[in-house]
Amino acid sequence: MSNEKIPFLDLVTVHRELQDELVDVLKAALKNAGFIGGPMVQGFEEDFARFCEARFCVGLGSGTDALRFALIAAGVKSGDIVITVPNTFIATTEAISQAGARPDFVDIDPRTYAMDPGKLREYLEHTCRWNPKTRQVTHNATGKPVTAVVPVHLYGQMADMDAILDLATQYNLKVVEDACQAQGAEYFSQIDSRWHKAGSMGHAAAFSFYPGKNLGACGEAGAMTTNDEQVTHTCRLLRDHGQSKKYFHDIEGYNGRLDAIQAGFLRVKLRHLGTWNEQRRQAAERYDKLFAGVQGLLTVPHQPSWARSVYHLYVIQVEDRARLQQKLTDVGIGTGIHYPVALHLTKAYEHLGYHVGDFPIAERSAAHILSIPMFPGLTSDQQERVVTETMKSIAVYG
Ligand SMILES: *Cc1c(COP(=O)(O)O)cnc(C)c1O
Repeated sequence: MSNEKIPFLDLVTVHRELQDELVDVLKAALKNAGFIGGPMVQGFEEDFARFCEARFCVGLGSGTDALRFALIAAGVKSGDIVITVPNTFIATTEAISQAGARPDFVDIDPRTYAMDPGKLREYLEHTCRWNPKTRQVTHNATGKPVTAVVPVHLYGQMADMDAILDLATQYNLKVVEDACQAQGAEYFSQIDSRWHKAGSMGHAAAFSFYPGKNLGACGEAGAMTTNDEQVTHTCRLLRDHGQSKKYFHDIEGYNGRLDAIQAGFLRVKLRHLGTWNEQRRQAAERYDKLFAGVQGLLTVPHQPSWARSVYHLYVIQVEDRARLQQKLTDVGIGTGIHYPVALHLTKAYEHLGYHVGDFPIAERSAAHILSIPMFPGLTSDQQERVVTETMKSIAVYG
């Protein structure tokens, strides 16, 4: 077995392979100086909506823009409460705050790391009050209306959408999917007995095309998908200073457009996304098999029968995470932690008044999770080495 380094993520190879096609996009844009809007953006929006099985897609500057605009377009207002999970990237809660709302959390399912619908129900039933006249649910302690929920499809696997959408209908909540890590993930709905793509089930969904995501731009980019025409219209306004036509501003908006060059790059890459996601699934299956012997000392990702993950990350749990991460670093294997601090305990949210122990499952997972190398093109030899080194570390520990 060689001692070559194994990166956590290899972004170089794919760009070498696609170089000619990507350079063609750049040349086409330079030829007519079409940098903002235009056919490349529109073409990508159509392709990506089709890929997500959603009616509409609006190309945006980042996943954070997509979350913020989706929430505003879905009707979230200043003074609202929006519910999400504590184990996500801070962009989820930044978007909630920047839409004027206060983020509130419910704990996660320990096996899937996604929002636990039972905890969401508990929150709505025990800390809120339903007003049948206004058809609004109000948070008892603060008197604020709870208007939306943001399930995060973490690590490439969708949250339990049937249960979440059912509660959302019952309590008149908008559902904005944080699908930033889940381009192409699927969920099997019991309602119509078929698979649904991430970005097609909620009122709106946000995608990030940050370079390291399953579909990544060569810079910053994002998109919002929805089946709702009004949400689409509002997001188009919000991304472009509220303009319905040049210098006629229907509302005050933002500068949140998708670059034409990035849209062109994304269009090229989108054609490969199905293959790349399949390669990630195969790599995940190989890890599952290789780790089968060490169950008990190590937890592998859990994929419920209703989920088809696209394995943005392959996340394991071990008792002594610091030790394992150090061991892997020592032998040249890259790892990551997504994420080391649950958001309710992060400094930026001190003012929300949460304490250690408020969301024990998210806190426990933050202390034990480790993301190991996962990307299309990861070889079985590399995976065997990752697993061997991991087993060596935890066997000595045990
Ligand atoms: C990447 C990511 C975002 C933010 O996307 P940007 O394009 O970096 O703004 C939001 N939520 C989650 C879960 C993410 O992984």
